Amino acid sequence: MDKGLERAKHLGCTTVQMFSHNPRGWALGKRQPEEIAQFRALKRVYDIHPAFIHTSYLINLASARPDLSERSMAMVEEELCIADQVGAEYVVLHTGSASGDDPAVARKRAVMALKRIAEKSFWNAGLLLENTAGERGDITSRVHELAEIMEQVTPGLIAGICIDTCHAFAAGYDISTEEGAGGLAAEIRRYCGRNMLKLVHLNDSKKPAGAGVDRHEHIGKGAIGDKSFRRFVNLPFFTGIPLVLETPKISDDDDRRNLETVRGYFKKAEI
Ligand SMILES: [Zn+2]
Repeated sequence: MDKGLERAKHLGCTTVQMFSHNPRGWALGKRQPEEIAQFRALKRVYDIHPAFIHTSYLINLASARPDLSERSMAMVEEELCIADQVGAEYVVLHTGSASGDDPAVARKRAVMALKRIAEKSFWNAGLLLENTAGERGDITSRVHELAEIMEQVTPGLIAGICIDTCHAFAAGYDISTEEGAGGLAAEIRRYCGRNMLKLVHLNDSKKPAGAGVDRHEHIGKGAIGDKSFRRFVNLPFFTGIPLVLETPKISDDDDRRNLETVRGYFKKAEI
């Protein structure tokens, strides 16, 4: 994890999102005390704030299977503990999938699971619910669905929401148009409140708006496109919200290029 901070600093980043372990597995490696101390020190020295931990993709708090639900709850708790250990401010969560069940029923199960987590302990790190791409079984692809869950969970656990631009686009918020971007902002304000938006995952989409398919693309190179991203990141509504890239990556050069593209949008807007 401390290498993540080194890389972020090297790329000129002021915020970072990382995985605490392989996100496609359940195994959590043990962090050594030196690693934790190093992370906390570097975070302070490099002034990287806030830091986000993205939870495992296997987590499904909406699962009807008790074993998977229990495992998912345990892992969310574990990630919150890790965040507190290393001093990361937020933990990002894909709440889950209905897997063949009625999404409204599945959302209720997710609420129950989150309530149980909230009863277990108190963490400094806040949980952020991320919008999903509207794939089959998704229970949180609409902003009001995120709000529905947040409203029912004991205060103190969930700190807000994370909006992923690729997921929003795939789920039918056509942010490539001015109207679509404004519409998304209006829904966030209406259902959650602007102050609950803590993070934007900035990703272009390989697939068209409303396709319901989650395929991230380099910024400006996908179906959302250059012009729309420039407008989106400069909307006053999104100003000051941390932006994190989850664009395809083969080497650090990919990150560098995408960062340059995004930074260019801000520079041009200032002229
Ligand atoms: Zn994302």
